[in-house]
Amino acid sequence: MSNDLKAIVLLGAPGAGKGTVAQHLLDNFDVIHFSTGNLLRNEVKNDTEVGAIVKSILGSGDLVSDGVVNQVVEVNLERVLPEKRVVLLDGFPRSVDQAKFLDTIFDACLKNSMKVIEIEVDYELIVARIVGRRVCVLCAATFGADDKIGRCSRCGGELVRRGDDEEEVVRHRLLEYQRITLPVSAYYADRLIKVDGNASREIVLQSVTKLAMELGL
Ligand code: ADP
Repeated sequence: MSNDLKAIVLLGAPGAGKGTVAQHLLDNFDVIHFSTGNLLRNEVKNDTEVGAIVKSILGSGDLVSDGVVNQVVEVNLERVLPEKRVVLLDGFPRSVDQAKFLDTIFDACLKNSMKVIEIEVDYELIVARIVGRRVCVLCAATFGADDKIGRCSRCGGELVRRGDDEEEVVRHRLLEYQRITLPVSAYYADRLIKVDGNASREIVLQSVTKLAMELGL
C-alpha cells in the first residue's frame, strides 16, 4: 500500500498470540524487532542503572513505570530509525501516556507512516489457552492445550505449567490489560487494523501475511 510505512505497533492482550505473530513477521518480512521486554532484560543483563530499577519488576507481571520505559525506548529508537527498515514495536506502547510519548518522537510524517495491528481474542479463550499451556523444564519449549503429549517432543523433558499461568494470575493480568493498555487501541483509532485472533494459529497467521503484504512489507 504505502512505501512510507516506518513502524508497526503490535497490540494484544497477554496470551492473544502477539509473540507468535511477531515471530511470523520476523521470519517472513524485512522488519526490525523492537521489543521493550527484550530491551529491559538487556538492561538488567548489562547491569545498568535502568537495569537495577527494573530487575525486581520484570517477570512479576507488573509494568515498569512509563518514565523508565519511555527513556529506554527513546534511546533505542534513535539507534534503529535511521536504518530505513520497518520497525516492529512489540510490547510498546502499553499505556496511553506511552502512546503519546511515541507520537512526540515520531515527527508528523512518521506519524502518518505508523500502523497498529491489534490481535483480538475473547478473554475466556485466552484463559483456556494459557491455563492449558505447558512448558518443558529442560528446553523451555511451550506446548498448547491441544498438544496431547506427556513429555517434550523436542528433548523428552518433563512438561509443567508456568507459575504465572495459574488462572487467577491470568485473570488479574487481563484486568490490568483492560484498564491500562486497552485504551491505547482507542487512542490509535485512526491507524488501527484489527485481526481476529480467535481462529487457529494457521488461519491467524494467514490473515497476518495478507495484511503485511497489503501494507507493502
Ligand atoms: P510479557 O508478554 O510476558 O509481558 P515482555 O517481554 O513483553 O513479556 O515484557 C516483560 C516485562 O517487561 C513486562 O512484564 C513488564 O514488566 C516489562 N515491560 C515491557 N514492556 C513494557 C512497557 N511498554 N511498559 C511497562 N513495562 C513493560
